[in-house]
Amino acid sequence: MQDVVEKVYEQVVARNRGEVEFHQAVHEVLDSLGPVIAKHPHYAEGALLERIVEPERQIMFRVPWVDDAGQVHVNRGFRIEFNSALGPYKGGLRFHPSVNAGIIKFLGFEQIFKNALTAQGIGGGKGGSDFDPHGRSDAEVMRFCQSFMTELSRHIGPSTDVPAGDIGVGGREIGYMFGQYKRLRNSYDAGVLTGKGLAWGGSLVRTEATGYGAVLFAQSMLATRGESLEGKKVIVSGGGNVAIYAIEKAQQLGAIPITFSDSSGYVVDEAGVDLELLKQIKEVERGRVADYVERRPGARLVTGGSVWDVPGDVALPCATQNELDGDAANTLLRGGCGVVSEGANMPSTPEAVEAFQKAGILFGPGKAANAGGVATSALEMEQNAGRTRWDFATAEAKLTGIMADIHDSCVAAAEEYGRPGDYVLGANAAGFTRVADVMIAHGIV
Ligand code: NDP
Repeated sequence: MQDVVEKVYEQVVARNRGEVEFHQAVHEVLDSLGPVIAKHPHYAEGALLERIVEPERQIMFRVPWVDDAGQVHVNRGFRIEFNSALGPYKGGLRFHPSVNAGIIKFLGFEQIFKNALTAQGIGGGKGGSDFDPHGRSDAEVMRFCQSFMTELSRHIGPSTDVPAGDIGVGGREIGYMFGQYKRLRNSYDAGVLTGKGLAWGGSLVRTEATGYGAVLFAQSMLATRGESLEGKKVIVSGGGNVAIYAIEKAQQLGAIPITFSDSSGYVVDEAGVDLELLKQIKEVERGRVADYVERRPGARLVTGGSVWDVPGDVALPCATQNELDGDAANTLLRGGCGVVSEGANMPSTPEAVEAFQKAGILFGPGKAANAGGVATSALEMEQNAGRTRWDFATAEAKLTGIMADIHDSCVAAAEEYGRPGDYVLGANAAGFTRVADVMIAHGIV
């Protein structure tokens, strides 16, 4: 790491003690900026780097709610409004017991550059709570969402900050939060949240977008080597929104996804995942991956080890941060994996990324590969603003075009800064320069 960025990184560590995921995300971006600053030293002036690593605003609040037995619980809510140079803060809400300030901050930081890559005029933010929706009734989830939104509503708005879903937050939760926002504001501001239901301002393709986008990104990377996904065995982790639609798009493009997982284990289905069954269990019944094995002859459930032990040609990590470490990366490489496209945010540890890059395989980092979700959220905002609704084919064509542009921006930036084929450098450099140029234009704010 160059001296000038190293100093900024040290400050981040000193100022944000214990926030290890945030340190990791900042390190990854700053580490890429050496060649950018060497070529354009003005990016290190005016404390631009120091400003970009400091959130514009951080909100932390109490979320009290009552369970079905009448017991009161207190969770913690977060919203990090990280950077509004390019537009209103935009980024999902995560409900998971592991959520803390450092995790939300890393996600918000990543979101700045991801959103810049989409070229849609959206700033970076993220939020969530340490609430665990697993095993909670609909009524409990509703009461939690209403309490969470009662505070969050003071800070968001269609031109201010536009949250969406993430882990633990899907259509049901967005619905309860939108209902509460509308009640509090006495205003039907459809553009205040994305990931809405189709009957009340949602966009076709938003549900599919992140998973589809990660597979489209893999396909674009393969095309640079004259290859395609046709016939390739795909290893997928996660069993939620991103994983399900990554499997769907991979199947549409002729690949054979054979795994998925959740926190209870992973499933291997050598015949190829039965997507309808997986959707029924995960989306309709809110069940566990073990339920799939009971209904699918030939599929097996593995509760120890890691899904990355399964050999395949392509890996799509679609669960959570740091789910794929250096050992797992080496196992994947030994198993013949030649492409990794990150559906999740920061799923590969720095050691894993290093192993992939050393091996010279195609590695698409999350901030580029999973940008299809937020890109389609911005398309949802566009439709809300125009009081219009596009059909599936129109929305999907726009997503496909945006993913291709993101891919090409990464390739161009990697070439410009002397590391052709390095998508990590390409994504960070292209995202950073777009935000930095606008921050400079806006003065010291
Ligand atoms: P979901 O809640 O729909 O699904 C998450 C899946 O990952 C579940 O199967 C969950 O299993 C599993 N998982 C979560 N945490 C862990 C863990 N610690 N160990 C093992 N498995 C785990 O979330 P999404 O699919 O929406 O999100 C997945 C990833 O994609 C996240 O990193 C998210 O930030 C990222 N992402 C999502 C976008 C979106 O549009 N939804 C956009 C861009 C990125 P279990 O149910 O057992 O917890």
